[in-house]
Amino acid sequence: MFQELFDTYDWEEVKQSIYAKTAKDVQLALQKNKRTLEDFKALISPAALPFLEQMARLSHRLTQKRFGKTIQLYIPLYLSNECQNICTYCGFSYDNKLTRKTLSSFEIMQEVEYLKQQGFEHVLLVTGETNKTVGVDYIKKAITLLKPHFANISMEVQPLEENEYKELVGAGLHAVLVYQETYHKEDYKVHHTKGKKSNFDFRLATPDRLGKANIHKIGLGVLIGLEDWRTDNFFTALHMSYLEKTYWQTKYSISFPRLRPAEGLIEPKVVMNDKELVQLICAWRIFNEEAELSMSTRENEKFRDHIIQLGITSMSAGSKTNPGGYVTNIESLEQFEIDDARSPSEIVQMIERKGYKAVWKDWEAFA
Ligand code: SF4
Repeated sequence: MFQELFDTYDWEEVKQSIYAKTAKDVQLALQKNKRTLEDFKALISPAALPFLEQMARLSHRLTQKRFGKTIQLYIPLYLSNECQNICTYCGFSYDNKLTRKTLSSFEIMQEVEYLKQQGFEHVLLVTGETNKTVGVDYIKKAITLLKPHFANISMEVQPLEENEYKELVGAGLHAVLVYQETYHKEDYKVHHTKGKKSNFDFRLATPDRLGKANIHKIGLGVLIGLEDWRTDNFFTALHMSYLEKTYWQTKYSISFPRLRPAEGLIEPKVVMNDKELVQLICAWRIFNEEAELSMSTRENEKFRDHIIQLGITSMSAGSKTNPGGYVTNIESLEQFEIDDARSPSEIVQMIERKGYKAVWKDWEAFA
C-alpha cells in the first residue's frame, strides 16, 4: 500500500530538498533520457524557472512523440450537489446554504441528449459525497443509463471500497479521478473538517483500491493553492510512480486544478502564477512521457490556447459545474466558476487552428 511508502517521507525535508536544487541539477535532469524523482524535484524547483523555454521545447517534443498532434475532449456531467462533507474550498460544502439537487433518470437523459448533440463521447460523472442519495446504487444506475450513449465513462465521486469499484467497472466505468487535494496531512485536516473526506488515510489508499479493482485509468492531482504546490506535486509524482509499478496495467492521468472562486470559499494560501503552471506541466511531461495531462475550463481562454502545444493531451470543453447545468437546472449554484466559457465547437476550432486534431473518442470497451 502507498501509505507505507508515504510514511517514510517528511513534508518539510522534501520541501527543503526541492528548494535546494540548483541550475546544475536542472541541466542534468534535462540531459537525461529517463528521469528520477530527484530529477522531477529539480524540474519543479525555483532553479528551473530560467530554463522554462528549454523545458517547453522538450515537453512539446516528447508529447508529440507519444501522442501526436491530438487533444482528447471530455465533458463533466454533474449529477448532484448534495454533500455531507465540509470542504473549505468548495461551493457544495455541507455548510453552504444552497438548494440541493440530485438528477433523476429522466433529467440525466435530458442532459445526455444535449451532450450528444455537442458531439461528446467521453463523459465525466461528478457528484458530492453522500451515501444516502448518491451511493453506489445511484452511480451504477447512472452508468447503466449512459453506457449506450458514451464510449468512455469516467467519474469523480466519493472514494469507494474495492468491491464497489469492481461492480462499477463491470457496469462500464472506465476511469476514476481521485485527487488527494493536498498531501500535507495537517493542512488536509484544516480543509476537510467534517464527513468521510476528513479521513486522509482512506482517501490516500483509494488509488490502491482502484488498482486492485482493475480500473482502466486513475487520475491523480492536488488542489493547487492549499499548500506549497512543488511539495504537493512531488508527493503526487511519488504516488504515481508507486502505482505505475504496482498496477502496471492501469493508465494514469494528472490534472492541475488551481483554486477558483466559489460560494463561501477561502483564499488560496499559495498563489501559483501562469509561468509556474507552465513549468509544472512541462516538468510532468519530461518526467513521465506516458501520462495523460489534463486541463479543465477552470483556466482562462488565453492560457488554454497556449498550453495545448506544451504537454496537455486532454481538455474539457463547454463545461457546467452544477447539476442540470446544461438543460434541466441551468440557474443552480456552480461548484466553482469556470473561466473558459467557449462552446465545444469553438474549442474544436481553436484546437484545429493550432494544427491539432480534437479527438472525441479514442477507446471503447467490447460490449
Ligand atoms: S469537494 Fe467534494 S466532498 Fe468536498 S464539499 Fe465539495 S463536493 Fe463535497
